[in-house]
Amino acid sequence: MSDCIFCKIIAGEIPSKKVYEDDRVIAIHDINPAAPVHILVMPKEHIASMEDVLDEHLPLLGHIHGVIRNVARELKLDKGYRIVNNCGEQGGQEVPHIHFHLLGGRSLTWPPG
Ligand SMILES: [Zn+2]
Repeated sequence: MSDCIFCKIIAGEIPSKKVYEDDRVIAIHDINPAAPVHILVMPKEHIASMEDVLDEHLPLLGHIHGVIRNVARELKLDKGYRIVNNCGEQGGQEVPHIHFHLLGGRSLTWPPG
C-alpha cells in the first residue's frame, strides 16, 4: 500500500532498525519505545488489522508468533515479556498495517491503561 508507513519501511524507503527479516515478516525497533525492549513484528503483506485477517492468513500469524518467540530469546527476555496487538480505533491501533508489539525488559503492569 503506497501511503502506508510500514509498507515504506518494509520496502526500505524509510529507514528502520531491523532485528529480524525473512520473506514474510520483518521485526524492527519501535522508534518511540514504551519499554526497554519494544519491537514491532509485522507481515510484509499489507493487512490492515486483526479485523482484516482472513483464514488463509492464519499460518502467517502463527509464523509471526514464532518470530516473536525467537526474537524474545535473542534479546534475552528470560524474565518474561508481553505481546500486544492493538486493533482499530478503540484498541489504540496507530498504524493501519497489522503489527504485534513485543515489550519487555521491565515489569509490565496489568491491566494496561
Ligand atoms: Zn502497509
